[in-house]
Amino acid sequence: MPKVGMVSLGCPKNLVDSEVMLGILAQQGYELTPHPDQAEIIIVNTCAFIAPAKQESINTILEMAEYKKFGAARKLVVAGCLVERYRQEILEQIPEVDHVIGTNELESVLAACQGANRSAGMNRAPEPYLYHEFTPRVLSTPGYSAYLKIAEGCDHPCTFCVIPQMRGAFRSRRFASVIHEAENLARQGVREITIVGQDTTSYGEDLGIREGLPSLLRELGKIQDVVWVRFLYCYPNRVTDALIAAVAETPKVAKYFDIPLQHSSSSVLKLMKRGSNGRQFLHMLEKIRAAIPGVALRSSFIVGFPGETEDDFKALRDFVAAAEFDHLGVFLYSNEETSRSFDLPNQVPASVARRRQKQLMALQRKISKRNLRKFVGKSLPVLVEGRSEETDLLYQGRTERQAPGIDGCVLINDIVGPAPEPGDFRWATITEAGDYDLVARLDSDAFVERRPSAIRPQAPGALVQIQPALTVSPV
Ligand code: SF4
Repeated sequence: MPKVGMVSLGCPKNLVDSEVMLGILAQQGYELTPHPDQAEIIIVNTCAFIAPAKQESINTILEMAEYKKFGAARKLVVAGCLVERYRQEILEQIPEVDHVIGTNELESVLAACQGANRSAGMNRAPEPYLYHEFTPRVLSTPGYSAYLKIAEGCDHPCTFCVIPQMRGAFRSRRFASVIHEAENLARQGVREITIVGQDTTSYGEDLGIREGLPSLLRELGKIQDVVWVRFLYCYPNRVTDALIAAVAETPKVAKYFDIPLQHSSSSVLKLMKRGSNGRQFLHMLEKIRAAIPGVALRSSFIVGFPGETEDDFKALRDFVAAAEFDHLGVFLYSNEETSRSFDLPNQVPASVARRRQKQLMALQRKISKRNLRKFVGKSLPVLVEGRSEETDLLYQGRTERQAPGIDGCVLINDIVGPAPEPGDFRWATITEAGDYDLVARLDSDAFVERRPSAIRPQAPGALVQIQPALTVSPV
């Protein structure tokens, strides 16, 4: 069977789609290769929510197309959000592309690899797709950690956002399906489960499940071998008392909230069709901190939204200073054609937006360092990820307050007791604090005992680096 290589761009939700496509192919006997030059079929799963992401997707497609000239590649397949926005343009303008797969057509990856013609599926809109617990999936994350997608699409009307156009209307997976998949992941050695969706806090609403996410967290918290359950992408006005209580009362649920607020000025939030304001957001953050002492808070903001004045930006800066987030992302507004804000007046010059982004990140760097300093001398459970990416002299890991791939880490420069293995949960004493990372001595005590047999060896490197002989099991 041909060798397949995959490049997965964008968010963890897209990564799960890549893993599903690889699962379907591997189950049919396709070999997965870590080396694009050896791949006979290369799949690029794209991202397209803002201009830089679109550019990265196009650059990657063109880069992979070169392997059709100089490598073993004879087929290039493009999948994901860029296809949803520019299917026709991709086929017309990039002749090297042999097939395109939309976000609801993951299962057509097989036909694409078997040589279906490049415009198959063009004449009808595919049914909204949601994978389930019996869908084959190749996990690309380290053996002890995995993403769990609980819903797809979004019904919110945020004017700057084109994700609903690419991912469709909001739809939840069945409760039992999510639990079943999580149990399977735990059986495979996964100890940290990160729940994702465009808006995880709306989980179950379309299925008539009241307080769906809180119920799910409590149920996931009962799975024996799981150590941490984390959830990302909360919609602000869906952060309910029931959700806060579920996090506070379920030991295995990470004391961690990711709530993209996008702005704090009521006039900008109104233009974004998101509502609310900084005062209400601060009240919500205070409520979470009161109920869950030591909770980690992450958010993200957009600067340069049309109509954002210097006063609006000053209000945002004051809000960020008062909120003292542990982790923060600041995006430049991207004027996306087909978004509702595309034609809004008072577009903000790019140089002004960049200045605002720089100022906000400089403010956050100080806040992050101040927050991290509070942990020096403290002992915290750390999930060891392995040797540090920076140097072999160090190990690295994460505390419960640090999500995979988006937050800082713990650099381990001293070890008491046995050398750790990736996936170990050990107590660590924090010795230093940087702007975004902590430094620690790893102590000999285990936070949870290692169950050596269960942890699946990690496929090395990025998704394109997948080992050929990966086992495929319906998750
Ligand atoms: S909630 Fe998020 S995904 Fe949904 S429209 Fe708003 S920004 Fe986009």
